[in-house]
Amino acid sequence: MIHLKIRIQGIVQGVGFRPFLHRLAKAHHISGTAYNDSKGVILHIQGHKEDVQDFLKELPQKAPCHSKIESIDTTKQPLENWNSFTIQESKSGIHQTLISPDMAPCQDCVNEMLDPKNRRFGYPFINCTNCGPRYTIVKDIPYDRKNTTMKEFTMCSLCQQEYEDLQDRRYHAQPNACANCGPTLFYQGEQKKGDPLENAIQDLKEGKIVAIKGIGGIHLACDARDPKAILRLRKRKHRETKPLAVMVKDIDTAKEFVQLSVDEEKLLISTQRPIVLCAKKNKEAYKELSENKNLGILLPYSPLHILLMEKMDALVMTSANLSDAPVLIDNNEALEDLKHIADSFLLHNRTIENRCDDSLLRNFQGKPYFIRRSRGYVPIPLSSKTDITGILALGAHQKGSFAWGKDHYVFLSPYIGDLETIETFNHYKKALHTYQRLFDLEARQIVCDLHPDYTTTRFAKSLSLPLIQVQHHHAHMASCMMENNLDELCFGILFDGTGFGSDHTIWGSEFLIGDYTNFKRVGSIKQIPLLGGDKAIHEIGRIALALSIESNCEIPIFETGKQKILKQMLSKSIQTSGMGRLFDGFYALITHTKAQDYDGQAPVLLESMAATTTESYPLCFYEENNIRFFDWSEMIHYAVTETKAPEIQAAKMMNTIIEMTIDQTLHLNPKHLPIVLSGGCFQNQYLLKEIVHRLQELQYRVYWHTQVSCNDEGIALGQLAIAQKRM
Ligand code: ZN
Ligand code: ZN
Ligand code: FE
Repeated sequence: MIHLKIRIQGIVQGVGFRPFLHRLAKAHHISGTAYNDSKGVILHIQGHKEDVQDFLKELPQKAPCHSKIESIDTTKQPLENWNSFTIQESKSGIHQTLISPDMAPCQDCVNEMLDPKNRRFGYPFINCTNCGPRYTIVKDIPYDRKNTTMKEFTMCSLCQQEYEDLQDRRYHAQPNACANCGPTLFYQGEQKKGDPLENAIQDLKEGKIVAIKGIGGIHLACDARDPKAILRLRKRKHRETKPLAVMVKDIDTAKEFVQLSVDEEKLLISTQRPIVLCAKKNKEAYKELSENKNLGILLPYSPLHILLMEKMDALVMTSANLSDAPVLIDNNEALEDLKHIADSFLLHNRTIENRCDDSLLRNFQGKPYFIRRSRGYVPIPLSSKTDITGILALGAHQKGSFAWGKDHYVFLSPYIGDLETIETFNHYKKALHTYQRLFDLEARQIVCDLHPDYTTTRFAKSLSLPLIQVQHHHAHMASCMMENNLDELCFGILFDGTGFGSDHTIWGSEFLIGDYTNFKRVGSIKQIPLLGGDKAIHEIGRIALALSIESNCEIPIFETGKQKILKQMLSKSIQTSGMGRLFDGFYALITHTKAQDYDGQAPVLLESMAATTTESYPLCFYEENNIRFFDWSEMIHYAVTETKAPEIQAAKMMNTIIEMTIDQTLHLNPKHLPIVLSGGCFQNQYLLKEIVHRLQELQYRVYWHTQVSCNDEGIALGQLAIAQKRM
């Protein structure tokens, strides 16, 4: 007989780990005990040597699917007088353990919910140790019912029995509930039937807009097959053109809307249930849902969604918020704020403690390519090779995020949004405090962007802690390096909209050579004048005008008077080398569009409209202060003077950017340093795919993002990586 004390660290709370240990112990005739503590699970096992060995062998192999074992430490102990295996109450203490993300309903729960003979038939809050809400309901750790928003619901005797029964799938399932004891739905609207769900479905069928409370926030929903309803939603929400995501009943329904690869299907059905951007079956179809060639699709991820989808097989699901504010989570706020948008409300009385938006990604080469990493993924940390305790990186400004280090973990914030409004910044600060409390984080070193006017920079300076400011594109580069475990001199290709440069001008098409400590700017593009500053980011016709004047081929885009005034601004304008701006301007130029509705619309439409051609425009470069610049004026001149369809021109422009990138790389990276691709413009799939392909053909080692977004949401990780080396 031997007795071992085992400490298991990782994601081992809230995922059915102790019940699993209990069953495993029983199977191997082992006695002892298990309990959660602040660092994970402590396990004492006592039994015959072979049994103990078998137990230890099977432990990592058979661990619950959502657990993640980081380490197992074993010490020998004197024998105890045990004759059974018991689960003990959690010990509270210093908070150090991880928390599981929210998980979509497991198949067992779905089957029960749809089985008329089951006592949870039709119950929209069914869950078990393998599925259900986690991060969004947790208030404190250890992860026990009393520390979640389920605290207000006292389990009935049947639920309590399941909770205590080792053989039951709900053994120690903290959000366990049934219709007799758990959360309930309520409906507010015009329908008069008794059942809230039936009422909401009736509204949806009538083309109405219903606010539906989900897991991490409230959605506005309407029938995705009813163009009139969709237009009404767009109008009321002031979201005229921005694409809307569609929740579909199942994969077969998804295939009516989009083409699905095997990899995309896998992402859709994963327990994280993100919105997956897929190519529409027909580029011109479903324009009212998305004006571009892609459509965001997601599968139901709460039991309530599944019940809804039994009757409505495709619903528009868009975050319920007021312009630029974070998604609503509170019932009363929703009833007030959405009264002119939603026709009715399907809400419930389980409080959402932590706001968590839907994650948004696409598939790239069999791996997720994040645009927004949130529900289903947070708060699982990334791991770091070094101890990064005490580093708090505050991110950028648009797509605000933070990264907070502790031990070898990087805790990344959920989706926050652009830090343009007080509400969004409050959400940011609340998420910071929540993380601090849940993971017992401390800040000894602050990192922020170089930009003097970012909200995060001002916030950083107010904290009276040691501060490091990191150049925006260096942070993009470091973010991609850290994800890919690169700790050597690298070549960064960073294409985005805007970032404050070391020379105090605005950068955005950068070729950098560097490591975490230092970098050198070796390549960029000729600067683009922004007529009237930030106004040009919205009114992209101004960029087209500037591009054309600078290329000696002025185009008439505004009426004469305005055009004249704008021309006078040229010499005094702010200049930028932003790739996003070049896309904005080029799109405006070939389509004669004066303004875009939202940031990023023009580049997406340009990618979307492009025909298939290998043609490109001539390349032109010049050197200044040892930096090699791409001169776009040749390209603009050709585009203005040629007679080609805009679809061909869009493709030629992207091909030119690809050729330019290859040419710059050949000139500026002769030593074949590993290449990292980052920045928001790498959301352009054509650019990403072709640049990766071409560079690999040339025997370069190329790396891209698979764990955080290439856009500014990923900046915080890069800031943290840099601070870790500079401290
Ligand atoms: Zn389940
Ligand atoms: Zn119950
Ligand atoms: Fe950026």
